[in-house]
Amino acid sequence: MPPGYREWANFLSLVTGPVGWALYGYGRLKRDFVNPGGGGEDMGEGKKIRMPMPASSDGTVHEAPASARITHNQRRRWWMFWKSWIAEETESELLHAMIAEAVAQDATDIHLEPHADYFLARFRVNGILRDYRKFESMTGDHLLAIVKVMASLDVADRSQARDGRFEWVDDDHGWRIDTRVSVSPSFRGEKLALRFLNRPATTLNIDSLGMSEDMKKALKRSIRHPEGFILIAGPTGSGKTTTAYSLLKMVAGPSVNTITIEDPVEYSLPAATQLGVNATWGITFEEGLTTILRQDPDVIFIGEMRDPNSFKTAIRASLSGHLVVSTMHARDTVHIFASLRNMNIEEASLVASVKMVVAQRLVRLLCPECKEPDEEIDEDSLEFVGFDGSEIDDLYQPGGGCEHCFHSGFVGRTGVYEYLTMDKTVREWLERGGHATDLRNALRERGVRRLYDDAREKVMSGQVWIQDAIRSVGFDE
Ligand SMILES: [Zn+2]
Repeated sequence: MPPGYREWANFLSLVTGPVGWALYGYGRLKRDFVNPGGGGEDMGEGKKIRMPMPASSDGTVHEAPASARITHNQRRRWWMFWKSWIAEETESELLHAMIAEAVAQDATDIHLEPHADYFLARFRVNGILRDYRKFESMTGDHLLAIVKVMASLDVADRSQARDGRFEWVDDDHGWRIDTRVSVSPSFRGEKLALRFLNRPATTLNIDSLGMSEDMKKALKRSIRHPEGFILIAGPTGSGKTTTAYSLLKMVAGPSVNTITIEDPVEYSLPAATQLGVNATWGITFEEGLTTILRQDPDVIFIGEMRDPNSFKTAIRASLSGHLVVSTMHARDTVHIFASLRNMNIEEASLVASVKMVVAQRLVRLLCPECKEPDEEIDEDSLEFVGFDGSEIDDLYQPGGGCEHCFHSGFVGRTGVYEYLTMDKTVREWLERGGHATDLRNALRERGVRRLYDDAREKVMSGQVWIQDAIRSVGFDE
């Protein structure tokens, strides 16, 4: 050895020597006391054991080559020791990384499904399932066991379907997510489903919801002075809460006291106090709202108001210097005003408090990579686009699927919207006590965009399939 390297060799042996001896000693201890008689006999003589290979970070699963399939007890023991030392932490990290990735992708659910020799993890994003990655069977089993422990479920019991929940915490992002766990036995083993009950609102972006520039401007203007009432309507699953939270996200902050009351809490918003309404605890919206008002709030979000008393309390709050945002069931914007009036709320209060109302639906977005021109345009489609004999631009339908859309033909969902602000037309109609049809006609005369117009525009620009548009907003009335 050249003289210059001798110091290095001495140094290396000094460092590695004690570690090596410690490992050897621990291995002996484990073999002789922890696992007397050596491991491996339970596997049967000559039976091949496949080394569990953790999947790499790029999502591929490394199958052990044939040469790595060993029967030697010594190797197995070494693996067991190594695994017991590091594996638990590694698998917890895998689980954490998977949940963090799902949250970052704004997924609502994670599915971990057993297959013949691997587990497949999938995320549901925008209502569509997409593959995340595969795990070796053993890793998948361990991930499942970790989740069961976190959800206080019996790890040993694999024969029954069970539900639980846990709070997942990510200190790096400040995320605390209430996660519902469902484990069910299946043909190939246990299947796991995780659902996020409150996703972080920080991932929401008002620019990605499919709103027109005018609408975004109107929304931003309506929250500029944080007082008044904003209502968002649509059927269940139309993305109302998402719209509401993208608004709240813009106003909430350390200097603003934001309180939400919902059943259940769907998004988590930092710097906000969030209350879940629970009928079994005897908390109703109206009671919750009354309590909230004593807490000196600036901004209040009320999820899905139904009873007239809640609306009245909310309107009173919005008239006394609070910004109140709420969702409700209503077909369209005219219908929102008609419902409010039917609750015997004074027209003057409505005029003074309501700033903006929004009605919306969700439709699927065609995959731009594999969509195909729609050749079979039937009579309904022609009626929907308002065919007048002139040439129609290309309309598109979902294609066969590709990598980009995870073979579904769609890349998510977008909102279809209409909105009204408290302008002269609405004010006069309210004060006059006119019929809903009068307002509808007045708005049409002024050329105010309706749900139908927005959906039609998204069809004509090739973003949305005409069948989806018809299903969500119907025909031009
Ligand atoms: Zn595609």
